[in-house]
Amino acid sequence: MMDPRHAILFEPVAIGPKTLPNRFYQVPHASGFGSAKPLTQAAFRGIKAEGGWGGVCVEYAPVSADADEEPHVAAYLRDDRDATALRLTADAIHEHGSLAGMELYHGGNSSKNVASRHTRIAPSARTAEIHWGSAAREMSVADIARIQSDFVRGARLGRDAGFDIIYVYGAHGYLLTQFLSAWHNVRQDSYGGTLANRARFALETLELVRDAVGADCAIATRICLDGRQGVKGVRVEEMLPFIQMAEPLVDLFDVTVGSWPEDSGTSRYFPEGHQLSWTSQVRQATSKPIVGVGRYTNPDQMAALISSGEFDLIGAARPAIADPFLPRKIAEGRLADIRECTGSNVCILKEEDFRHVGCIQNPTAGEEFRRGWHPERVDPTPDPQRSVLVVGAGPAGMECALTLARRGFDAVHLVDAEDELGGRLRWTRRLPTLGDWGRITDWRRTQLDGLDNVQVITGRRLTADEVLEYGADIVILATGSHWSSEGTQPGTRKVITDAAGSLTPERVMAGERPSGQRVAVYDCDGYYVAPGIAELLAGEGYDVHLVTPESVVSPMSDGTLEGPMLRQHLHDLGIQQHTGVTLRSRTAQSVAGETSFGDTWELAVDDLVLVTHQVPDDGIHRALLADADRLRKSGIGAVHLIGDAVSPRWISEAIFEGHRLAREIDLADPTFPAPVRRDLPV
Ligand code: ADP
Repeated sequence: MMDPRHAILFEPVAIGPKTLPNRFYQVPHASGFGSAKPLTQAAFRGIKAEGGWGGVCVEYAPVSADADEEPHVAAYLRDDRDATALRLTADAIHEHGSLAGMELYHGGNSSKNVASRHTRIAPSARTAEIHWGSAAREMSVADIARIQSDFVRGARLGRDAGFDIIYVYGAHGYLLTQFLSAWHNVRQDSYGGTLANRARFALETLELVRDAVGADCAIATRICLDGRQGVKGVRVEEMLPFIQMAEPLVDLFDVTVGSWPEDSGTSRYFPEGHQLSWTSQVRQATSKPIVGVGRYTNPDQMAALISSGEFDLIGAARPAIADPFLPRKIAEGRLADIRECTGSNVCILKEEDFRHVGCIQNPTAGEEFRRGWHPERVDPTPDPQRSVLVVGAGPAGMECALTLARRGFDAVHLVDAEDELGGRLRWTRRLPTLGDWGRITDWRRTQLDGLDNVQVITGRRLTADEVLEYGADIVILATGSHWSSEGTQPGTRKVITDAAGSLTPERVMAGERPSGQRVAVYDCDGYYVAPGIAELLAGEGYDVHLVTPESVVSPMSDGTLEGPMLRQHLHDLGIQQHTGVTLRSRTAQSVAGETSFGDTWELAVDDLVLVTHQVPDDGIHRALLADADRLRKSGIGAVHLIGDAVSPRWISEAIFEGHRLAREIDLADPTFPAPVRRDLPV
């Protein structure tokens, strides 16, 4: 039963000629599917409509040949073939009564154009910010007319493909913002100079698009307010008057803040709703419907925001990936079932680096078509009498046990040596800034508690003998891994002389502390662990030096949009960052090695924390397989190894593997993933 305080979230909202069935709105966000993987795209977005999102959008649609983003994947709308591909998505969204949105885009001087080899265009000829050694050329008036007619063509194609909401993408420093910005736009003609002149390109484009499709579709625009990091050349003092000028042409304002790393800020550095101090100002400038994001997962917070009148719709990208059924769960009063976004940005890392979205919380994200996985439904097992023992309640073991129980196995036992569930998350969530990652454990704990066919047993470390004698038909070992204290250097495979036995992350998190004031944290892992340990120790007053062979600290954090903020944060905490250094030896008073240029390097420290590499804890698995005869006599029909015990890796991948095995355990050989369906361009 829905809490009546949340009823406001389920009111319909009119936007131009269309009506959204409720206030839940999945804003445009990249997926890696675009129009190139039409069935994957349709299944990914359709599931969100099924889960109750009243508006569901695809990602940006470059409108012109000189807005070429390859190798990034976009919802290109170049011709009828693209429109046919994307129609599948519009249809999938409509099937559940939701509205489908698409976002017409031109990047101007930030367009890649590496594949197309088109010259980059911009309001003024200035060095393109994110493309070294290359400048954009100034757009002629003929270019302006060409791009505007491309927007109109895109809008018509979008409408004909079945989209209800057509965006003219203005935010994030792309072409419309470049025209608005006095920093980008130094034109002397009627498209430059005063704000009214700089606004002309956007206003004309909006008007042309509105004239073409405004009777059939709602016209939206995405704009951005300064935020902490600012928008080059368009401050809020100019953006608000611009919104007033655009208001008659727009049915929905989609508001964001300045830069993407801030707008999609991770939970490490940005609390939920952090954008609001900026985005709430838009209400002063318009009475048209406003949608904004804030990584909201809490319906009380959402209802308060709508009641305040600051927003009309609750926008979401990441929370809708983590839980496509978030609105439905609120409607049904199942708040404890909401799979809350952790704000880790693994979705962005995966989409940007691998062109296929994924999620740390939701292993089915991006797998809707190719694996046929539904976030809320699993197939019942044909053979529920088999009993299952899962050893290890880290991310992999928890997810596997939960999914097996959901599939209806009569008896699933999840056993862990420690008193608390979570495996490596037990300590990860206690690292400074990483508290929200605890949601991974908390959601699974709540779900496990709600099922009576799974028994969670903590504080029990099983030996191989005990596993053999446990009486389970199926044994799944999710025993994880530990950080090595061998003192080997993963890059060179050489020993760091006299470093063996140095501190490791787990020992620090268990309470051990460096022997003196000055400590080096040596990071060959490149993600969150070493910065987390460094910050923890710095917070306790240690003089911390983060040393890494990489050219920057935590290169993986660049993929999650955190890199520059993380390095600034460490710098502000007084942590010294030593990059390009390979350690060779340690003494009681120092660590020494060489730089990437071959120079010798030495640092006086009292102690060393090794964040070099992780070692799988697969001893039980090896022991069971070593004695085939005994295994057979034990009555165990199948033994599986999952998660870090196979190969230490990201939490998202350990969860995925636990989930996959549980879904596929009835196959003849579930060890190797079942083949996936291929999606081909239409
Ligand atoms: P993953 O990420 O693959 O899930 P983790 O390292 O996070 O792996 O979790 C592994 C879990 O397995 C830890 O909570 C650990 O306490 C537990 N574990 C390891 N060996 C045993 C064992 N022999 N008996 C019970 N629990 C174990």
